[in-house]
Amino acid sequence: YKINMEEFKYIEELGKGQFGTVQKVLHMPTGAIMAMKEIRLELDESKLSQILMELDILHGSNSAYIIEFYGAFFVESCVYYCMEYMDAGSLDKLYGAGVPEDVLATMTISMVKGLQFMKDVLNKIHRDVKPTNVLANMKGEIKLCDFGVSGQLIRSLARTNVGCQSYMAPERIESQSTYTVQSDVWSLGLSIIELGSGKYPYPIPDKHSGFLGQIIAIINEDPPSLPADKFSEDSRDFVAQCLNKDPQARPTYAQLLEHPFLKTYENANVDMKGWVQKAYEARLAAANKRS
Ligand code: ADP
Repeated sequence: YKINMEEFKYIEELGKGQFGTVQKVLHMPTGAIMAMKEIRLELDESKLSQILMELDILHGSNSAYIIEFYGAFFVESCVYYCMEYMDAGSLDKLYGAGVPEDVLATMTISMVKGLQFMKDVLNKIHRDVKPTNVLANMKGEIKLCDFGVSGQLIRSLARTNVGCQSYMAPERIESQSTYTVQSDVWSLGLSIIELGSGKYPYPIPDKHSGFLGQIIAIINEDPPSLPADKFSEDSRDFVAQCLNKDPQARPTYAQLLEHPFLKTYENANVDMKGWVQKAYEARLAAANKRS
C-alpha cells in the first residue's frame, strides 16, 4: 500500500526546516493527524526510490522512544515523510534557559533508549542526534526522529547541510572516519549540555567570526561541561563520559543506562507532562511577543 499526496488535507504549518516545511496534515482515509516533512533534494528517481526502500524498515518497528513512521512518497524531487504528530514540537524550542536536572535525566533516558533501539533492533546508527531531532508531546513523552535509517537520505542531506551548529564528533571532523555509534554518543553529550544549560556550547558563527572557530574549538579545546552550580556531579560525569575525545573510551548505551545520573531518576515519576505544558506555553508567549 502506497500513500500519496491526494490522501492528505493541509491543516497548518508546524515549522520550517533546512530542506522544506513541516506541515500538520489530516490523512483522510484513516482520519489520522500526521506531521508531513518536506525534504527538497535534487535527486534522480533511482536515488529517491532507494530512499523510500530504505525508510521501509521503519514500518512495523516500534519503540516508545522513536517517532512513528507512517510512510513516505516523492513528488518531483521532494521526499514527503509522514510521521507521528508531536504536539509540543522539538526540544530546541522548548528548553528555554535550560531544563532542570530531573527533566534532563528523563529526556536523556528516552534519547538513550531510542538510540539503543535503533542500534540493537534496527541495526542502525542515528547520525543526526541534536535537540531539533527530539520531539515532545503534551503527554510528556519524548521521542527521537530517525531519518538515519536511510543512508542515501543522510548522504544527500549531508551534502547540502549548511547548519551553523555542529554536533559532529572531533574524530569525524579530523579524519572523516566512517560514522560509528560512538559519534552518536558524542552528539548525545553535546545535546544534553544544550538542553541543560539553554545554549549550544561552542562559538556560533556570526558576522565577526566564521564557522572555522567552532570547528577548531571542537577539535582543540577541552570538551564543554554542564554548569557546576546547577547540575550534580553524577550528571556532569555522565556528560564528560559521552564527550570523551577518544571515541573508543565512550560508554555503550547499556552502560549509559546503568549510570547513576539515569538510575537516580529512572523510577522517580518526574512530572514531564507538567514540564512540557509549561515550556510550550512559554514558547507560545515568546512567539506572541515577537509578532
Ligand atoms: P530541519 O531538521 O530541516 O531543521 P525540522 O525537522 O526541525 O527541520 O522541522 C522544523 C520544525 O517542524 C521543528 O522545529 C518542529 O517544531 C516541527 N516538527 C518537525 N517534526 C514534527 C512532528 N513530527 N510533529 C510536530 N512538529 C514537528
